[in-house]
Amino acid sequence: MTWLDWLPGRRPPPAIDDLRWHNAVGGCPLALRLSAADRERLRGLAAKFLQRKKFYPTDMELEAKQRLLIAMQACMPVLRMGFRALRGWQGVVVYPGEFKVRHSHHDSSTGVVTERDQVLSGEAWKIGPLVLSWANVEHDLANPWEGFNVVVHEIAHKLDMLDGPPDGVPPLPRGTSRRAWIDTFQRAYDRLAHEVRRGEATLIDAYAATNPGEYFAVVSELHFSDPRRLVQAEPGVAALLRGYYGYSPAG
Ligand SMILES: [Zn+2]
Repeated sequence: MTWLDWLPGRRPPPAIDDLRWHNAVGGCPLALRLSAADRERLRGLAAKFLQRKKFYPTDMELEAKQRLLIAMQACMPVLRMGFRALRGWQGVVVYPGEFKVRHSHHDSSTGVVTERDQVLSGEAWKIGPLVLSWANVEHDLANPWEGFNVVVHEIAHKLDMLDGPPDGVPPLPRGTSRRAWIDTFQRAYDRLAHEVRRGEATLIDAYAATNPGEYFAVVSELHFSDPRRLVQAEPGVAALLRGYYGYSPAG
């Protein structure tokens, strides 16, 4: 043991006991769909998250189970990369919020267009905390395969900001060409922006056309919660995200 082991962040995190873990997995469909080995990996990462990040519930109480559910979803995107990818920030601000439709959504089957709500359900700043509305987190847990996941969205911004301002290009794993990533994402972004400008129905939420950083965050949500829609819309982007995050728990 070296002196580093005595630093608070270096001590192994307290393990999440079986009953607590079992309950949390039951409440988190994304975790439920992981392979047994990856679920154990997630358990270790979530324990670290609870040890090293600090929760700031605002105008609400946040029970241990709620913290764990947030930790599990926050660690889902870094299953392959490891906890180090969550470095550089510490706080998780959670406020009750009320469920808001975050993005404009054109439902082609009903023709219903829901306008984007201006109230942000989550925000990620470079060094600042992750900011989450519990109502949105809860909605995503109850509706895991609809293409939205506010925790994944905000973590995607954090990953994107590991190497500078959010530009849709996070540090990439070995073997992924930066050139290929930029070309594929740029073309996909331009296509979506064009469709949105023309007022067409889009498979990818129109909010993604805000800027390349939002595009990356929105398609990350799709990777975890509705990858088939992403494959249909942008197979090249879907393939790059599989390489980046690993397989989708949605199958
Ligand atoms: Zn965003």
